[in-house]
Amino acid sequence: MAENTFTRRSLCCGVAAAAAATTVAASSQAQAGACTAFDAMRQQAMSPGEAIDELRRGNQRFLNSESIHCDLLQQVHMTSAGQAPFAAVVGCMDSRVPPELIFDQQIGSIFSIRIAGNYVDTSITGGLEFANAVVGIRAILVLGHTGCGAIRGAIDDVKLGNLTETLAHLTPAVEAAGMVGADGAASNVMWAVATENVRLGMASLTDNSPLLAEQVAKGELLIAGAMHDISNGQVTFL
Ligand SMILES: [Zn+2]
Repeated sequence: MAENTFTRRSLCCGVAAAAAATTVAASSQAQAGACTAFDAMRQQAMSPGEAIDELRRGNQRFLNSESIHCDLLQQVHMTSAGQAPFAAVVGCMDSRVPPELIFDQQIGSIFSIRIAGNYVDTSITGGLEFANAVVGIRAILVLGHTGCGAIRGAIDDVKLGNLTETLAHLTPAVEAAGMVGADGAASNVMWAVATENVRLGMASLTDNSPLLAEQVAKGELLIAGAMHDISNGQVTFL
């Protein structure tokens, strides 16, 4: 009896251990696949919609604490001969909104353009034209965030050195949101201006770039907007 119990237990645990080993192996294999750097073939096989979906899924992995941890130095070697990222993110310089981390992306996966207040101007549009026309990205995401100091500074009409000129790029969003003279500390005011700023940024990309507008019209490029909540890491697509 004791022997049978022992045998059953051994069988039980042996099977469990084997199942666990299989799971670990499958997981390692999945991670190894996910760690393969993007190349042009993989990039172009992805539709613009799939590119946005991958950012969405990446944020969900991040929120589930299931981020994929790759050997970054190996990725440096894999991408040393060239890059084929699938998307570009225009985000704020805020230290709490690093695109590669919150979208769980690796070296060579996304272009990341960051500037205080994530506004879009001619220089940034030019960078995105390079990203699309030369490198072949499938999607552009303009990413705003809650608690943005630049947005608050613009609402409060802050004047400080060269920052004054930086914040002037956000004035159209303050005006479009109807928040001139509003309380910049109020979270609903900041949200209204930040989301308006994202929408204006998205619109300016096609308004001011015939090149990007043509790609969007042909269905070869998708431009999306989103807001990142710095209190929980969640990205909400607009
Ligand atoms: Zn910010």
